[in-house]
Amino acid sequence: MTTYQITTELSTNRKQKTPAEQLGFGKIFTDHMFVMDYEDGKGWHNATITPYAPITLSPAAMVFHYGQAVFEGLKAYMTEDGEVQLFRPDRNFQRLNSSNARLCIPPIDEDFALEALKELLRVDREWVPTAPGTSLYIRPFIIATESYLGVNPAKSYKFMIIMSPVGSYYKEGINPVKILVEQQYVRAVVGGTGEAKTAGNYASSLKGSEIAAQQGYSQTLWLDGKENKYVEEVGSMNIFFKISGKVITPALNGSILPGITRDSMIEVLKSKNIPIEERAIAFEEVVEAAKNGTLEEAFGTGTAAVISPVGELKWLDDVISVNNGQIGEVTQMLYDTLTGIQYGKVADTFGWTV
Ligand code: PMP
Repeated sequence: MTTYQITTELSTNRKQKTPAEQLGFGKIFTDHMFVMDYEDGKGWHNATITPYAPITLSPAAMVFHYGQAVFEGLKAYMTEDGEVQLFRPDRNFQRLNSSNARLCIPPIDEDFALEALKELLRVDREWVPTAPGTSLYIRPFIIATESYLGVNPAKSYKFMIIMSPVGSYYKEGINPVKILVEQQYVRAVVGGTGEAKTAGNYASSLKGSEIAAQQGYSQTLWLDGKENKYVEEVGSMNIFFKISGKVITPALNGSILPGITRDSMIEVLKSKNIPIEERAIAFEEVVEAAKNGTLEEAFGTGTAAVISPVGELKWLDDVISVNNGQIGEVTQMLYDTLTGIQYGKVADTFGWTV
C-alpha cells in the first residue's frame, strides 16, 4: 500500500441530527467528506477530510458530458456494544477498481481507500445512527474533472466519500415489494457496462422505474438485452427465486452487477446445505413455477435494500403472487443471518465484518 498523508480540517459548524424515524434514504449528509485528486503524472494525491460542502467544477468537466463516473455503496452499522462495523468493505473497493478499469479511470489504492474510510468514520462516528434498522450509508465515488470536450479518458479525477444516515430503503421495510418485469427497455447488454457500477446504468434505468411507479410497482426487474427472455436483476438488487426447494439466481454473465450481498447470501445458503444454483433463468420458468405451485419464494439482495422479499411480479398481463405476499422461510433466515452479522448479533463465522 502506498502511504498517503490525510490532511483533516474539522467542521466548526456541526449539523443537528435528524430523528431516526425521519431519516429516509440518502437525503441527509454527515459533517465531513473525504476528497482525493488525481492528475496524470502526479497520480492520486491531496487526500483530505474536510467539512461536507459543495464542490466547484468547470462546466466542461468531462463527467458532465461523457459520464465517466463510478460509485460504490456500503454501510456502517452500530452494534449493541457500541462498535461501528463495516460489512466486507474490501469487496466494495475491489469492485470500484473493476468499475474504474471498465471506464478507463485510474485505479485507487484499495487498502488506502479503506483506511481513509475508517478515518472519516472516526471523525463522523456520532453520525452512525443507533435505532433498530438504521445505518450509515457510505457512498465512495469517482468523477472525471478535466475541463475538455474531447471524447477520451480524462486526465484528472476526484475520488470522494460522502456518508448519509439512513432508515430502511423501501417504505415497505422488510415487507414484500411489488416488481414490474420490464418489456420495452433493457438495463445492460453483455459487453456493455452492466457489470460496472457506473452512473450511466442508473440514468438508463430511470425510464423503467418511472413506468413501474406509474403502475404501482416499487422496482423494475430487467430481462437480458438480447432476447428479452432471461432474468438479470432488479433496479438496485440481485434477484433470487426458490423453486421446488432449490434456490436459484442468475449467473454473473457480464451484464449483471456482481452484488456483494448476492455473493454473501450464496455463501450462507451453502453453509446451511440449502441447494443453490447460479444459472440462466428464463422468466417463463418463473411464470411456469408460479402456475404449477412450485414458486415458493422470491427475494432481492442489496446493500441498501438488505434482503427484500418479493410479493408480486407483473409480466405482460400476468400478475404473479409469490407465497401469497408473505415472507418465505429462506428469505427470513437470510435476512436474520445477514442483519445479525452486520449488527453484531450473530457470530460472524465468515470473517466478513471490519
Ligand atoms: N444490482 C444493482 C444494479 C445495484 O445497484 C446493486 C446495489 N449496489 C446491487 C445489484 C446489489 O449489490 P450489493 O449487494 O453489492 O449492494
